[in-house]
Amino acid sequence: SNPIKVGILGYGNLGKGTVKAVKQTSDMEIVAVFTRRDPASLELEDPSIKAVHIDEVESYKDKIDVMILCGGSATDLPGQGPKYTKLFNTIDSYDTHAKIPEYFEAVDEAAKQGGNISIIAVGWDPGLFSINRLVSEAIIPNGETYTFWGKGLSQGHSDAVRRVEGVKAGVQYTIPSDEAMERVRSGENPTLETAEKHRRVCYIVPEEGADTNEIENTIKTMPNYFADYQTEVHFITEEELKKEHSKAPHGGFVIRSGKTGEDNKQLIEFSLKLESNPEFTSSVLVAYARAAHRLSKEGAVGAKTVFDIAPGYLSPRSASDLRRDLL
Ligand code: NAP
Repeated sequence: SNPIKVGILGYGNLGKGTVKAVKQTSDMEIVAVFTRRDPASLELEDPSIKAVHIDEVESYKDKIDVMILCGGSATDLPGQGPKYTKLFNTIDSYDTHAKIPEYFEAVDEAAKQGGNISIIAVGWDPGLFSINRLVSEAIIPNGETYTFWGKGLSQGHSDAVRRVEGVKAGVQYTIPSDEAMERVRSGENPTLETAEKHRRVCYIVPEEGADTNEIENTIKTMPNYFADYQTEVHFITEEELKKEHSKAPHGGFVIRSGKTGEDNKQLIEFSLKLESNPEFTSSVLVAYARAAHRLSKEGAVGAKTVFDIAPGYLSPRSASDLRRDLL
């Protein structure tokens, strides 16, 4: 059968990851990458992939089955989501949790105007973690759900340490607290603040002659970012930073701990350990793009989230194969 024709809108970390993820499928092909920048300026790893300016996207309306939106959540997607869902079936990884309800409404209206389907907030959190929170809560109503993030590179906190005087370069990892995880796994159902659930570890390259005690103190006492957390600061060389800390790892745990019947403890745990956050997120986007295409062919219209998509739609394999091999 014909491959699913995919467009990629925005060529940052997720855009690059999406190119790689589509290549690992057997049923999808990339039509073009769309960008707001000069298309010739994109350094595409695969020169056979076409880069097109976003102003020409409308002429691709009938050439693309699903457009994967790879823009940022803060300023790109609030405009791009509704705008391009009028023209195409879309997928995005919108992750501003507090604003998901209003984003959903805006995309839903646009999708219905265009007769398209859009699956929003796809990825791992929101995304796979959300599914696990929902399923485990539905199964064990008498319990608590805990989400731990990390070990992961946090962009916002890395930016914050780089702004400290005397810091030449640096990164920050968020790491789940072993002690907090143990308490949760034991079935104690503790009440935990975010700061008790995570610790923060920084790797810093100081400027020559900088006062490292002062840097460490400034970081550890920084309000909101570090002051409430158990924070470690390590000083390293520029070479070490490049060699050991240039990937974008992430991951985490969703744990539901509760009781059924009179007094039987039950624990559900889902975890991810990712060497590349963007490549993994893109891989999730691509699987949901397949689902969007299939649902669209069945006539589905409007905004959806991962909660609305049955798992079988994600797989390139037939329903009967899945029943035989995976059920
Ligand atoms: P990014 O690299 O900053 O890319 C965002 C946009 O910026 C791109 O689409 C691109 O648009 C533009 N851009 C990229 N590199 C550029 C450069 N060198 N110069 C100028 N413009 C450039 O962001 P990202 O890492 O791909 O992440 C996108 C979003 O994914 C994040 O905001 C986050 O919300 C979301 N995310 C979600 C999850 C989840 O689990 N749900 C996980 C990870 C990330 P143009 O090509 O049009 O210029």
